Amino acid sequence: MGKWKKRICVVLCVIVTFSGSQVQYAAATESSELTNDSIKEKQSQISEAQKAKQALQSGVTDVKKILQSLESSKKNLASYVQQLDSSLDGIQKKLDDLNAMIDEKSKEITETKAQLVKAEAVEKEQYESMKKRIKFMYERGDAMYVEMILTSRSFGEFLNKNGYVQKLAEYDQRMLQNYKETKEAIDQYKKELEEEQEILGEAKTAAKQEEASMQVLISAKEQEIGVYEADISNKSNLVKEYEAEIAAQTAAISALEKAVAEEKKRLEEANQAVRKYDGGIFTFPAPSYKRVSDDYGYRIHPTLGVKQFHNGVDLAAPNGSPILAGYDGTVVAATYSSTMGNYVMLDHGDGLYTIYMHASALSVSKGQEVSKGQQIGSVGSTGRSTGPHLHFSVRLNGAYVSPWNYISR
Ligand SMILES: [Zn+2]
Repeated sequence: MGKWKKRICVVLCVIVTFSGSQVQYAAATESSELTNDSIKEKQSQISEAQKAKQALQSGVTDVKKILQSLESSKKNLASYVQQLDSSLDGIQKKLDDLNAMIDEKSKEITETKAQLVKAEAVEKEQYESMKKRIKFMYERGDAMYVEMILTSRSFGEFLNKNGYVQKLAEYDQRMLQNYKETKEAIDQYKKELEEEQEILGEAKTAAKQEEASMQVLISAKEQEIGVYEADISNKSNLVKEYEAEIAAQTAAISALEKAVAEEKKRLEEANQAVRKYDGGIFTFPAPSYKRVSDDYGYRIHPTLGVKQFHNGVDLAAPNGSPILAGYDGTVVAATYSSTMGNYVMLDHGDGLYTIYMHASALSVSKGQEVSKGQQIGSVGSTGRSTGPHLHFSVRLNGAYVSPWNYISR
């Protein structure tokens, strides 16, 4: 009798529950599709993300290395800045990739959360549907379900009661299977969500590291440009200063020449003899010289690093070694200036003059007649000079000319 009752009840249950639970059943079916296909897809996405994560961790920019390699090739600012900029470009590209990855992960997490909500809803619906069926059975007085409910402390325990599960009808088992799959899908999504959040966190850390690297390079560049600009303004000031000094020298020398010319004109008008240059070759003015440290003409200035006109030859010679008059002449000046130091200027006649600078001592005075090869002073490093040398200039008709036209090595 009990056996029959149960069979009838199962038939009723199936009919009633199936017609009343089509929505739930459909939802359960969809959830098992999510469980199979979407999880497989997620898993391949996660393994892709893990590869990207490894690449991120191994690809963090080594700023120290970049700076070291730049340091060794830091010959001029333009190439330094160019190299820094290309490093910055590389980091910026990496940063863009990282940010794109972060965006993508955020999107995936949002999607996963939505799927989680959906799976939880399916779980709830299925649970409610099962409860309804149980209630229905209870109302029909089915002793088995009543006993199951009364003796189970939780729904989980209810499900795990093997003896009862075996007794459930085919439809009950299918519903139970759907419920289990939904539950698994939820667990899987939770796991994925956690993994994706972890990867996102690592991507953010890597992006921050790259940003910090970029900042280090940018500040290195700013500093370098700052140093260079200070150097430029420093140098351009030095160049201006140097040019002003040379202009002052030339003005002083021109004034002396003008004074000499006026004096000669006066003498000529008084029919008195004036000095004439007979075209003879000069004596070498610094016989102890070791080398020409700076030649006459346009050259890169040794300390200023810019192209400058050098109006004489610099003859490096030991301190105190003799300075000789290149040719017979009259001492036009034998004095000190802050740039020329102790210097002598000789008039050789016919607009030809010689100038001897940076002497440690002078052995002639203004107005004195000197002869070719006579010592007029001693080599030194006075005025604007960085080492003992004789700066020897020749002027003809108010302009500098090459001393090599008058002396030979
Ligand atoms: Zn010089």
